Amino acid sequence: VPDPTDPLAAGLRAAVGDAHVLADPELRAGYETDWTGRFTGTARFVVRPADTAEVAAAVRACAAHGAAVIPQGGNTGMVGGGVPRPDGARPQVVLSLTRLDALGAVDPVTAQVDAGAGATLAALQAHAAAAGLDAGLDFGARDSATLGGIVAADAGGARALRHGTARAHVAGLEAVLADGAVVSRRNGLLKDNAGYDVPALLVGSEGTLGVVTAVRWRLVPRLPARVAALVPLPSVERAVALLGVLRSRLPALEAADFFLAAGLQLLLEHQRIAAPVAAAPVYVLLECADRADPTAELAGALEAAGIEDAVVADDTASRERLWRLREGHAEAIAAAGVPHKLDVGVPAARLAEFLARVPETVAAVAPRARTILFGHLGDGNVHVNVLGAEPGDDRVDEAVLRLAADVGGTISAEHGVGIAKARWLGLVRGEAEIAAMAAVKRALDPAAVLNPGVLLP
Ligand SMILES: Cc1cc2nc3c(=O)[nH]c(=O)nc-3n(C[C@H](O)[C@H](O)[C@H](O)COP(=O)(O)OP(=O)(O)OC[C@H]3O[C@@H](n4cnc5c(N)ncnc54)[C@H](O)[C@@H]3O)c2cc1C
Repeated sequence: VPDPTDPLAAGLRAAVGDAHVLADPELRAGYETDWTGRFTGTARFVVRPADTAEVAAAVRACAAHGAAVIPQGGNTGMVGGGVPRPDGARPQVVLSLTRLDALGAVDPVTAQVDAGAGATLAALQAHAAAAGLDAGLDFGARDSATLGGIVAADAGGARALRHGTARAHVAGLEAVLADGAVVSRRNGLLKDNAGYDVPALLVGSEGTLGVVTAVRWRLVPRLPARVAALVPLPSVERAVALLGVLRSRLPALEAADFFLAAGLQLLLEHQRIAAPVAAAPVYVLLECADRADPTAELAGALEAAGIEDAVVADDTASRERLWRLREGHAEAIAAAGVPHKLDVGVPAARLAEFLARVPETVAAVAPRARTILFGHLGDGNVHVNVLGAEPGDDRVDEAVLRLAADVGGTISAEHGVGIAKARWLGLVRGEAEIAAMAAVKRALDPAAVLNPGVLLP
């Protein structure tokens, strides 16, 4: 039970009710460490509001008593933004949004749906499917990742290739600002250019400008006929060239991910399964979706690209087996140790050069580390995972992020900047742009109540 003489505790209890202010270290623990185990800190309290009014009251209580608010959804983020800072000077309050998980009726005319920030991606997917539509977004953490976290991070995943990142699906949202005010724009109008687009500003703001409480999500048509193919290739250059052919020949293309021999080996050992395909340095995993079976179209495109060897999966079970090879990478890596996870984006023309240079770049600062690389080929989005380096050794992060910037890429493609990369924002954003971001932050959150230390250095 929180100390009754603590004014912060009293304010939070008045905001969300006694039962939803967690002070016990055992109850807080699951909210204090991130999915990778690399980021951890101590929260004074974890609070679990039930609705927007309770979120606003909790934020106001934190602001009044000098506490920092750490918004948290499913706690599957990779950059430490959803858990308390290790060096937090002020009391920190984790604001868990998972109880705001309501899903409204799907509007068939606009193909949109209102969803609470705490609804999981998997729940949205099932809800959309029941209405003959599709969320248009998917990734491995679907059972835990929430729409609030997805919007806050502007998450992407494999299907961003066809449908865009979370940003493309946000038709409107509701959020609580740092002073407890509620902004709400959820009329769902495709055309509504009356002034600054505040909802758009909150997408990708990683909980630093507002706490997302609800989202109006734009759905896409459901394409039930699906086929996947795993293509072993001799080089990254061949993988990029393959994508060039598929882009023009395969309108049904929905995802084009990749992984390398070292990652597949780690995964096969972890899952205790045999390789489903001939050994190769590079593997590309494709998925096509359409109203009618796209298998012949895929086979024709692969033939046009000169591909002779591929495993094709045209039923759900075998498609899921192929995707487990790609999506299982994160778990296999986590089982092998606490990784440095660096999500970067590089231009397709320099992808091969980047991937070739990563191991030597990492070895120069952490000679005993090993590097596992995989990602979303279609977006030039590479997940660099470094195992065997000290969790607190930032030289690895810096070396990889500098390399990404050197080849004309970005230090964050879909996981966000968080606390993990804030100090390197200047590698890919100019002084004037960072000053503009800081001015927005100061204007909306002058006392830095929301997620201090995240995103901006
Ligand atoms: C196995 C695995 C696979 C993954 N694959 C992908 C992938 O393919 N693509 C991808 O983009 N990501 C991927 N991720 C990363 C992660 O799932 C996404 O970043 C997701 O958007 C995080 O959602 P969450 O609800 O877990 O957010 P959290 O981890 O709880 O929070 C993430 C950030 O958002 C903020 N936040 C959370 N909720 C709110 C809110 N309601 N309002 C304001 N700010 C909020 C937090 O403060 C934090 O800064 C993966 C993660 C795992 C574990």
